[in-house]
Amino acid sequence: MTTKSKNFPLSKDQLESLAKQYPTPFYVYDEKAIRENIRRFTKAFSIFPDFCEYFAVKALPNPYILKILASEGCGGDCSSLPELVLCEKSGISKEKVMFTSNETPANEYQFAYKNGNIINLDDITHIPYLKESLDGKFPELICFRFNPGPLKQGGTNSIIGKPEEAKYGLTREQIFEAYAECKKLGVKRFGLHTMVASNELNITYFQETARIVFELAAELKEKLGIRIEFTDLGGGLGIPYKPGQEAVDYDEVARLIKIEYDRIIVPAGLDPLKICWECGRPITGPYGWLVTRAIHEKHIYREYIGVDASMADLMRPGMYGAYHFVSVAGKDDVIDDDGNVVPGADVHVYDVVGSLCENCDKFAVQRQLPKIDIGDLVIVHDAGAHGRAMGFNYNAKLRAGELLLREDGTVKMIRRKETMEDYFATIDFDGLKDF
Ligand SMILES: *Cc1c(COP(=O)(O)O)cnc(C)c1O
Repeated sequence: MTTKSKNFPLSKDQLESLAKQYPTPFYVYDEKAIRENIRRFTKAFSIFPDFCEYFAVKALPNPYILKILASEGCGGDCSSLPELVLCEKSGISKEKVMFTSNETPANEYQFAYKNGNIINLDDITHIPYLKESLDGKFPELICFRFNPGPLKQGGTNSIIGKPEEAKYGLTREQIFEAYAECKKLGVKRFGLHTMVASNELNITYFQETARIVFELAAELKEKLGIRIEFTDLGGGLGIPYKPGQEAVDYDEVARLIKIEYDRIIVPAGLDPLKICWECGRPITGPYGWLVTRAIHEKHIYREYIGVDASMADLMRPGMYGAYHFVSVAGKDDVIDDDGNVVPGADVHVYDVVGSLCENCDKFAVQRQLPKIDIGDLVIVHDAGAHGRAMGFNYNAKLRAGELLLREDGTVKMIRRKETMEDYFATIDFDGLKDF
């Protein structure tokens, strides 16, 4: 069972004293919980001869977090030049960086190549594009992103869609052409990537994905004599956003994939094959929270609580209608672990809303919550991945800062809150004078 409000690592008093020093809204991350989780994840996959988790930088692009994860053995998965730079600054280098971009500009390929990062191509036409970008040179190690299309049936995913409709990756036929072409270009080392899920809690989905990828790796060896040295299963492991949902059992995921490994990879003579993931969400998602304060209430056709954060701080609810558990500091004994109201508790049905001029700016819609008083600290859970990172500046909202709760209980600011100066930094107001 999830114990969401109980998972939050700070008491109401601790949170209030933090909020005195760092005005709300802010994000806070729990280093101890992040470390314990990545250790569990890594241990589960240690049943394979070789394993690496390339943390999806886009999920939480903060170099302090990246450095923590790097110290636990993680690499970084990047999709842009600034993400590549973030890895470099965080001490993640060479083949610990996977560059899984799509529609990539030449200068980003050049940077990744210069740094010896693994380049994961999203299309067959990127072979000549990459070669041209590198003035005729080509990496010795290359990876391709495979889109299994109709091969991958079942779970249609609301975030990533059906593989056939997804813009990513090469078709199965193109994969053979692409590796043959790269072999001709002198490529010596090969990886194979796919990512066909997002926030998926059904772990048989990942067994199925592994089977499809392993079978392709075996066929590449048979048909082209190419030995794939790693398969990257992408990201997409889900987290239990909703009360009552169960967290994914990493050991079980590893065990299911190992079944396919023993059945396909070993007889194909591809053992040892390195197993890679590019998970973001399960690595930091449950261990980060958006902390905001109730500053208004209004009672019209519905009861509204207005908070000082907005959808510009956390886009998921507004963008996908995504559910995030919400709790109120000091009032966490009102809703039980399954999301049910404790009998006799004073609960209200609220829409918890931000200040954007957009009606989808709601953290919770028609949600049973403890009675919220103005000044209460409201905590939005599971915001440690795809949280602040997806934030934006619409309505000239200044973006929240980030705090790290260290293992020794101290708090370090790992990104300050944006100021108006930051927001205006790209505008030359002096130019207005003679405009
Ligand atoms: C978004 C993304 C990930 C991470 O996905 P999660 O759902 O956060 O695990 C990994 N790889 C690629 C290529 C992605 O686009």
